[in-house]
Amino acid sequence: MLDFSFEDEDYEFRDLVREFAQKEVKPLGIELDRSYDRDRFMAVWRKAAGMGILGVMVPEVYGGVGGSLMSLLLLVEELAAADAGFTGSLALNWAVQTMLIMVGNSEQMERYLPMISSADGVPAAGCITEAQGGSDVESVTRCGPGALRTTYRKTDEGYIINGNKCFITNGGNAGLYIVIATSDPDAGASASACFVVPGDLPGVSTGRIEDKMGFRSSQTAEVSFDDVLIPHENLLGEEGMGMEYVEFAMIFTRWAVGLLAIGIARAAFEEALAYAKERVQTGRPIIEHQGIGFKLADMATMIEAGRALAYKAAWTSLQFDLEPEERFRLSCMAKYHCTDMAMKICTEAVSIFGGYGYMKDYPVEKLMRDVKVTQIFEGPNEIQRQDVVERL
Ligand SMILES: Cc1cc2nc3c(=O)[nH]c(=O)nc-3n(C[C@H](O)[C@H](O)[C@H](O)COP(=O)(O)OP(=O)(O)OC[C@H]3O[C@@H](n4cnc5c(N)ncnc54)[C@H](O)[C@@H]3O)c2cc1C
Repeated sequence: MLDFSFEDEDYEFRDLVREFAQKEVKPLGIELDRSYDRDRFMAVWRKAAGMGILGVMVPEVYGGVGGSLMSLLLLVEELAAADAGFTGSLALNWAVQTMLIMVGNSEQMERYLPMISSADGVPAAGCITEAQGGSDVESVTRCGPGALRTTYRKTDEGYIINGNKCFITNGGNAGLYIVIATSDPDAGASASACFVVPGDLPGVSTGRIEDKMGFRSSQTAEVSFDDVLIPHENLLGEEGMGMEYVEFAMIFTRWAVGLLAIGIARAAFEEALAYAKERVQTGRPIIEHQGIGFKLADMATMIEAGRALAYKAAWTSLQFDLEPEERFRLSCMAKYHCTDMAMKICTEAVSIFGGYGYMKDYPVEKLMRDVKVTQIFEGPNEIQRQDVVERL
């Protein structure tokens, strides 16, 4: 039975995070939206890590705080409502932790989880996308010949990785990368494998840093692997299973992107509601004009409905007695429904602000720019729909 029972400590943690998010993360997001500054980013990152935000779901024995799923749900929304980019950077740590917990062995967990979960944890990154392979390298079925060109070769000393990954969140800032590569680019998913790659290994380098429309407090970069030698023990799970593991992780990461989008949508709705109560046109606050009032009613309703779907997908993702396909399908539904809904809400918020909504002096234009990418990454929404159709 679906169970969303929040404990008092979940709400207490939510309140602490809300205060931190509004006081530290929101101003950081506004500042880095104008110009990225790594030192400023890391200063707030360290505070988040110190509060246990990095390792919210990671067991204490591995450096985390061992919180509940419920506290993660509340936390993602609060942080995203303050700044989506910073939350996106944190989300990569949660994603890499998920891979290590679900696929890694006990030695890998002991060695690497504290590094990206503890009070002095560093950013982590997941390297899937390549210049020629975006949507193609996000599913076992689509990953055909040529989609994946980053290669690995097994030698007596270890595995040697060569290739370039693009659009990598935390690229250049990460202390730890999970990389998917292939032993035969012509073989598709069946030759793929995932590796844990420390960021300071010789041959790991940062290329182009992207200049983005939004999400600007999160660094996105090209990351290259040039004859990077990693020990045999850094293989995650088994060779040949890389794409399966990526898809498996997406059972958890796709609904999380949906929830992140709900945080952005909630911020846009709250801004628009406050503005509509204050802004007077033709003799009354614009909320009293039915055209605007109904928009706000729809926005509030869409947020409630989206949140309920994201929560159901989150709860379902942890029901290990259900088929993975069923859990994955619901996560894809939550991702595309919530992100499309959030895009609509942010666009409506700009409309409610009228001409002021288009100006950088007001908060909603940033929200509209930030939210767009949630429809694109973690698999564009066309791919999410395709993933649902294939599982109906
Ligand atoms: C800010 C940002 C951060 C990112 N962070 C990461 C990261 O941390 N790690 C990582 O690995 N990647 C990351 N990405 C990459 C992201 O996941 C890809 O951009 C995304 O998967 C789409 O790939 P693509 O850009 O190559 O587009 P393409 O795959 O070329 O798609 C182009 C268009 O064609 C559509 N399309 C493609 N194939 C199909 C199909 N079979 N059916 C229907 N429509 C289709 C797509 O939906 C899209 O509209 C990030 C991207 C951005 C913008």
